[in-house]
Amino acid sequence: MTATSIDGNAYAADLEREVAADVAALAEKDIRPGLATVIAGDDYASRTYQRRLQQLAEKVGCHYVCEALPADVLEADAIAAVGKLDADPRVSGILVLRPLPPQVSEVAVYRALDPGKDIESVHPVNTGLLALGRPRFVPSTPAAVFHIVDRFYRDSDRDPKTVLARSVMTFVGRSDNVGKPMVFMALARNATVVSCDVHTYKAGKLYDLTAQADVLVSAAGVPRLLSGEHVKPGVLAIDVGINPVDDPVTGRTHLVGDLDFESVAERAEAVTPVPGGVGPITDAWLLRNTVRAAQMAAAAEAARGNLGF
Ligand code: NAD
Repeated sequence: MTATSIDGNAYAADLEREVAADVAALAEKDIRPGLATVIAGDDYASRTYQRRLQQLAEKVGCHYVCEALPADVLEADAIAAVGKLDADPRVSGILVLRPLPPQVSEVAVYRALDPGKDIESVHPVNTGLLALGRPRFVPSTPAAVFHIVDRFYRDSDRDPKTVLARSVMTFVGRSDNVGKPMVFMALARNATVVSCDVHTYKAGKLYDLTAQADVLVSAAGVPRLLSGEHVKPGVLAIDVGINPVDDPVTGRTHLVGDLDFESVAERAEAVTPVPGGVGPITDAWLLRNTVRAAQMAAAAEAARGNLGF
């Protein structure tokens, strides 16, 4: 292997320290940031994620609350649960975990969020601000990807702004919550942007495009979709995919990414592993956004006070 394997756990630990310091600074002003998650039904991955966030929130000193709704929840009740959290002064940021049950419209629930507490930028107002390059909150997975890009280039004495303005950034996967926000962020950084999805693959064009990327980000959710032969020598390769795969020998399930790590690492300058790459940074960033929401709410409150409201 010639590439640097980026240590997402180390990057996340640094972020967690910064978040804990911000929480301590807010505590001096009697403010405690609070994270709320909304979960409906019994999806295993969502439950695991929810428990991990609870632990992290408590570790950095945030208040935490979970609205756990049954799988047969009515849409109106899911919206009411969000409304309750909007009104709760202990809650600074709200995460609605996907998937929601089929009878509940994601868009309807997202619209019910207070945009000031919408730390994943799923409310249309926040999505619009993100698309315009003026985000109120940068959603956590896209933020984790750009955190890796920025830190990796800075640590190797390159200015990320300059590098990205000269780079082709290729994104594989175009979901509303992960792929598209990354495209908006790359446009805001003046990168030359290529966005691929399953149609690109079916059209037989995926691998020509991935091979041109200076920075390649895969968020397709397809185990080992891309290997060394599909990437440009010297690429910075970031793997967002988290795919459970059964080991035929041991019979156990383990997680792999969208990249075939070993063969990509033979050609890349740097690559993120799965697990231990984007995932832990995503979690830390969600708490960072929670703290940011608390800071913004406190600043707005102070401004209202100064104006005598
Ligand atoms: P999604 O299913 O909503 O979207 C997948 C996207 O990939 C779609 O745009 C689809 O068209 C595209 N795609 C599917 N097959 C393809 C192929 N063969 N070639 C090219 N494009 C293809 O998924 P999502 O919510 O965006 O998540 C994507 C992956 O990222 C999943 O593995 C998920 O578990 C993982 N994920 C990781 C984190 C993290 O923090 N590391 C966070 C969120 C999601």
